[in-house]
Amino acid sequence: MSWMTQSHAHVWHPFTQMKTAPDPLPVKSAKDEFLYLEDGRTLIDGISSWWVTLHGHSYEPLVKALQEQAAVLDQVIFAGFTHEPAARLAARLSALWNHQLPRVFYSDNGSTAVEVALKLSVQSRMNQGNTKRTGIVALENAYHGDTLGAMSAGDRGPFTVAFGSMLFDVYRIPSPAGSVGSSTQETGRSSLEALIQLLEQHGQTISAVIVEPGVQGAGGMRMWPSGFLKSFREVTAAHGVHLIADEVMTGFGRTGSLFACQAESVVPDLVCLSKGITGGMMPLSVTLASQDIYDAFLSEDRYKTFFHGHSYTANPMACAIANASLDVFENEPVQARINHINKAHQARLSDFRVLKNVADVRVKGTILAVELGTRDAGYFSGAGPALYQQFLKAGVLIRPLGSVVYLLPPYCMSPASLNHLHTVMLDHLSALMTPP
Ligand SMILES: *Cc1c(COP(=O)(O)O)cnc(C)c1O
Repeated sequence: MSWMTQSHAHVWHPFTQMKTAPDPLPVKSAKDEFLYLEDGRTLIDGISSWWVTLHGHSYEPLVKALQEQAAVLDQVIFAGFTHEPAARLAARLSALWNHQLPRVFYSDNGSTAVEVALKLSVQSRMNQGNTKRTGIVALENAYHGDTLGAMSAGDRGPFTVAFGSMLFDVYRIPSPAGSVGSSTQETGRSSLEALIQLLEQHGQTISAVIVEPGVQGAGGMRMWPSGFLKSFREVTAAHGVHLIADEVMTGFGRTGSLFACQAESVVPDLVCLSKGITGGMMPLSVTLASQDIYDAFLSEDRYKTFFHGHSYTANPMACAIANASLDVFENEPVQARINHINKAHQARLSDFRVLKNVADVRVKGTILAVELGTRDAGYFSGAGPALYQQFLKAGVLIRPLGSVVYLLPPYCMSPASLNHLHTVMLDHLSALMTPP
């Protein structure tokens, strides 16, 4: 495997301390929920390869869509040109929101989908002659991506400390999901009250509130108590403030409903989708916008144009795969698969809850999160990296977020594989020492 030498010599991996990190694992192929390594080992992918793989790896209908589209139209500039895969996908995504978000702006990853949403909100104000509404409200513990605008909206911490001077300020309010343990009506209420107070005081200077609806992912799979997303929608609407739903992780069924907003019948002004949009096969993202926001850009005045775009905007192959993934939702029992994963998680709740070093166990849709009661909790918790290595040795890919160990499986996961993930997790968590 001479390419491993090349990898060692030249590749710089994401979120990786290259000096101390163990060697990366060479992957030869992947199918359904399995990753096949060059050394013959097989891993069960318990985290959908960073939350992207939706139905399963190399899922047949998606592979076919890619092959067919690649042979017909691989890529074309999207300014001044359009094509069937992008047009059809835009119409279908918009229909999934009852056509209340009728416009789809394409980009190619979650961070850029967020950048686009923030820029659309703020420029729509400017285009309407309102120069005061430039403020953004974001939640504690939020994660919206790694580009500068997305980082500004995300919570500050070790990952952003070097860039403090480059990030813009946002109004930060507590998250409805709280900061440790399970969320309660109380954590929801404090957050909502902070939002109401902020909008009453500064509403006229605020353009948008951005949230990860239902579940804050990278912040530790923190789950909102129910009802508060609806309240966020009502309060923002009452103040003429946009609600941006970053559904980059929660979209396409992860939390049980197709989109997390739909669990509370919420229609935001802007929605960001990526990760699962192509079933996890190719990079693609969209920002869906309301008619009002779209209309604010229509003008004879060229300065009111949305001057934003990426080279691979609406790549035809990525769009074709996304359409194929929506076909899978229509043609296969995807909701039943989601429900099975949820039921299997629920059935294990009490097994995890009795472990003495476990502080909290929570489930929403296909996501199971176990929060450890470690003393140095947070991303740099010592338990995480050690557990990660133990899990790999046991044949499963489970990558803790600090002291939060979670599963977010692809929907094709067989009951046997899921059972194996649960069992390995239980075995290793129960073997952890209680902190002094
Ligand atoms: C992963 C993620 C992003 C960033 O997406 P990338 O494709 O990694 O840039 C943004 N928002 C949320 C909620 C995410 O989970």
